[in-house]
Amino acid sequence: MNVISLESVDVKGKKVLLRCDLNVPIKEGVIKDDGRIRASLPTIKYLLDQGAAVIITAHLGRPKGERKPELSLEPVAQRLSELLDTPVIFSAKIVGADLSAISSGEVVLLENIRYEAAETSKEASERLILAKELASYADIFISDGFGAVHRKHASVYDVATLLPHAAGYLVAAEVDVLTRLTDNPARPYGVVLGGAKVSDKIGVISNLLDKVNVLAIGGGMLFTFLAAQGHEIGTSLVETDLIPTVKELLLRAEKLGVKLLLPTDIVVAPEFSIDAQPTIVAADSIPADQMGLDIGPESADAFAAAIMECQTVFWNGPMGVFEFPNFAHGTKVLAQALTQVKGLSVVGGGDSAAAVRTLGFKDSDFDYISTGGGASLEYLEGKELPGISVLQ
Ligand code: AMP
Repeated sequence: MNVISLESVDVKGKKVLLRCDLNVPIKEGVIKDDGRIRASLPTIKYLLDQGAAVIITAHLGRPKGERKPELSLEPVAQRLSELLDTPVIFSAKIVGADLSAISSGEVVLLENIRYEAAETSKEASERLILAKELASYADIFISDGFGAVHRKHASVYDVATLLPHAAGYLVAAEVDVLTRLTDNPARPYGVVLGGAKVSDKIGVISNLLDKVNVLAIGGGMLFTFLAAQGHEIGTSLVETDLIPTVKELLLRAEKLGVKLLLPTDIVVAPEFSIDAQPTIVAADSIPADQMGLDIGPESADAFAAAIMECQTVFWNGPMGVFEFPNFAHGTKVLAQALTQVKGLSVVGGGDSAAAVRTLGFKDSDFDYISTGGGASLEYLEGKELPGISVLQ
């Protein structure tokens, strides 16, 4: 995959519309993890150094076309200004903003683009009206919001069809890592998947089965696998309708000789709560009144040993309910193992990235932390990313 590089376009003295991914977790106006803002800085700084005026468009959450105050980007403008050490002008107006006076070296952040229903509309004609408005503000479009490139949205896709364009540094780096994960990855190649739902990951598991050497499954989704093997899973999360599909995947993995790792022990508790009493049980004998909330210590060690032998590792999704300290052990052991991988180690996804930071790891402990979970997974599923294709 090749994208038009930032350096190949002349941005000097130009107005640049920059799509960023600033979709950070915010609680009561306080930003909980500013990783995505930091990841956007290199491109913004480059554009400012080149003497461009930078107009940033981004989204926060899913306001579905309504002005929801709790999803305003205003706190992000302030944080961005601190990190850049430059004033960031916040424009509450998205459509009809007066940006004619913006000049070289200035930064504007437009309010949450998803306040406009047209941004995410399925109708190309509706999106195009908004895209034309955004395009009218600038001479050039730079796409750097990797977390949204799997979406055919006005500020991601349509605007690139209207203005000269290029990929920002973040998008270029993400594309480079994804290419390394898919074009001749160094072997053995291991993928670890966790998180809540099998339905989110079934496509990627299916597409990766004939490409990986090791596939380890943890998180809430592992119980659908245990159920498919005929085990009692108590009150654990399960997607019953997917049991037949999972059975097929297990058969395919066996035929292909893929080392598919499922836990042999599970940390269970009577209920889903922060102070629930944890007990370790064998994976094939979960009591009927208990739910599995983490992979057990024996399994965590086995997963860790298997991925430490790999030359390429991609990890998406926590192994358990890492937000509760009693059920964070599996995720911690896996994260620790990932830091020891000799080849390429990639943490994929906003939630997984937030998890490793919450557990006290530094970004620099891993080769690469992707900012876009959905986008990376869709690419690994073999799907086209519209926001990338339009930059090629
Ligand atoms: P996802 O957004 O699909 O990556 O899922 C992340 C969420 O999965 C985290 O908030 C975890 O708390 C949750 N999770 C992981 N393991 C389990 C489990 N065994 N039961 C319930 N939720 C889980």
